[in-house]
Amino acid sequence: MADKKIKYDPSCMDDYDPSSMDAQIAQQHILHSINSITETEVVPIREALHRVVAEDIRSTINVPSHTNSAMDGYAIKSSDIPSKETKQFKLIGTAWAGRPFRNNVDDNECVRIMTGAVMPANTDTVVMQEHVQVNDNLITIDNKQQANQNVRQAGEDIAEGDLVFTPGKFLNPSDIGLIASLGIGEIKVIRKLRAAFFSTGDELVSIGTPLEVGQIYDSNRYTLWSMLTRIGVEINDLGVVRDTPEAVEAAFLEASENADIVITSGGVSVGDADFVKETLEKLGEVNFWKVAMKPGRPLAFGKIKDAYFFGLPGNPVSVMVTFYIFVQAAIEKMMGHEPKQRIQIKATSKSELRKRPGRVEYQRGTYELDEHGEYTVSKTGEQGSGILRSMSDANCFIYLPMESNGIGIGDKVEIWPFDSFV
Ligand code: AMP
Ligand code: MG
Repeated sequence: MADKKIKYDPSCMDDYDPSSMDAQIAQQHILHSINSITETEVVPIREALHRVVAEDIRSTINVPSHTNSAMDGYAIKSSDIPSKETKQFKLIGTAWAGRPFRNNVDDNECVRIMTGAVMPANTDTVVMQEHVQVNDNLITIDNKQQANQNVRQAGEDIAEGDLVFTPGKFLNPSDIGLIASLGIGEIKVIRKLRAAFFSTGDELVSIGTPLEVGQIYDSNRYTLWSMLTRIGVEINDLGVVRDTPEAVEAAFLEASENADIVITSGGVSVGDADFVKETLEKLGEVNFWKVAMKPGRPLAFGKIKDAYFFGLPGNPVSVMVTFYIFVQAAIEKMMGHEPKQRIQIKATSKSELRKRPGRVEYQRGTYELDEHGEYTVSKTGEQGSGILRSMSDANCFIYLPMESNGIGIGDKVEIWPFDSFV
């Protein structure tokens, strides 16, 4: 995949490294290498939420199918709108939503009509019930009415034959409703992506086992499970893999067997046994990068068999940041839609943020609107890349660019709300 391989260099753990890779270049390289999957499946529309459309979806009907009332009121002919101040109309019946009024309406006659009811023959205008005077079956209407008011025309939402969605459309709740409004119950979508992942580390213990000295619970598999599940990816969780060449090789082979994407955490930084790199080079084509970012500097990316491979750092915050910045954009491209534009907002910092130039930083913060309608942001405590609490308490990243050498209280910063990552 990569035309130039970046050598695995132990200096990657130095705090500032001028030879490290720009995060944006790394992201572009990754996106450039990724091909979208093309296999499709037909699913009921309830299963099509957050999936990508794989066929032209055209309407076979008009929506709405009949011209109908947008208000509760009285249906009249527009030619009957009074020319003088007021006029009395004879009430001849009621049109309900789903129960049309089937008789003709003559001059000086009106029909009580409910929202959504089909307009009776000859009528084209609805007078809101708040704007009439009712006296038994005599209805007084004034001359302030406009022809065709309060009426929804047949086909005004979608006309028969209209192209509603084309391949590549990512379906949100309103899209599912729109497809349902056409009477379409099943559609063709890109099949689900399959991800396999595991954690590496001799110190890791799964939930349910008491901790011994030096051991920690594996949290990365749970954050990965959560981040993948909410974007609709099918999951194969291979558990914790020990730091031995045999275990790592077996896990990579199993993971790449049936997956579109293999994700690991840990084992890509200096200090990790070199066999991870050797194993990966034996099985596929993988680059080890030191990216000029914090958290998340060491990153491996490449291919094992037919699966794209992401080796994320082990630290829990680094896993989340590299997932959001690199993996999720890649998954979106694999699923056939372009990476979504992340929302970026300027906010006034209420915290002092320490930083050195030479890398971008994704600090974690909480933003809110102040009493003047301006966004402010505060950092969430200690920002170490192992401190998951800093993510858990946060509702945004505070993005500090390469050249920034820190932020003072009152300075403007760029924030990336987490909402835009869903
Ligand atoms: P590594 O990248 O393997 O050197 O790991 C960096 C740090 O992240 C170490 O402190 C690890 O103990 C920790 N770590 C690695 N994997 C996990 C995991 N799955 N869950 C929680 N912490 C982890
Ligand atoms: Mg490790």
